[in-house]
Amino acid sequence: MNDCIFCKIVNKELSSEIFYEDEKFIVFDDISPKAPVHKLIVPKIHIESVDKLDDGNISMMSDITKIAKKIAKETNVTGYTLSTNVGKDAGQIVFHLHVHFLGYKNG
Ligand code: AMP
Ligand code: ZN
Repeated sequence: MNDCIFCKIVNKELSSEIFYEDEKFIVFDDISPKAPVHKLIVPKIHIESVDKLDDGNISMMSDITKIAKKIAKETNVTGYTLSTNVGKDAGQIVFHLHVHFLGYKNG
């Protein structure tokens, strides 16, 4: 049994504010936003964190960077931070790889 909340969002068993979706990724609003635009970029396959990526799938980080650029363009932010937590000591609470997109607008 898979109790992962992000797998449930991927499988549409749990609702979310989906911003973008393709074959490999889903992007949705963080439920507790820490920036004017706070989205989570999530691979559809369950991987615990970036630390578990290997030569076969580490290229997904470049796909994620491309998706971040798309989010920035479509939300008209003027600056953004990408971050990903690895392990509970770094503040990871959902153990399904995700990259936080934290977007800001000037003024
Ligand atoms: P992390 O500390 O990197 O594991 O961050 C997990 C993030 O997931 C937090 O910013 C939470 O606010 C967010 N989160 C938890 N549950 C949900 C949910 N059901 N929908 C959207 N975001 C969520
Ligand atoms: Zn998962």
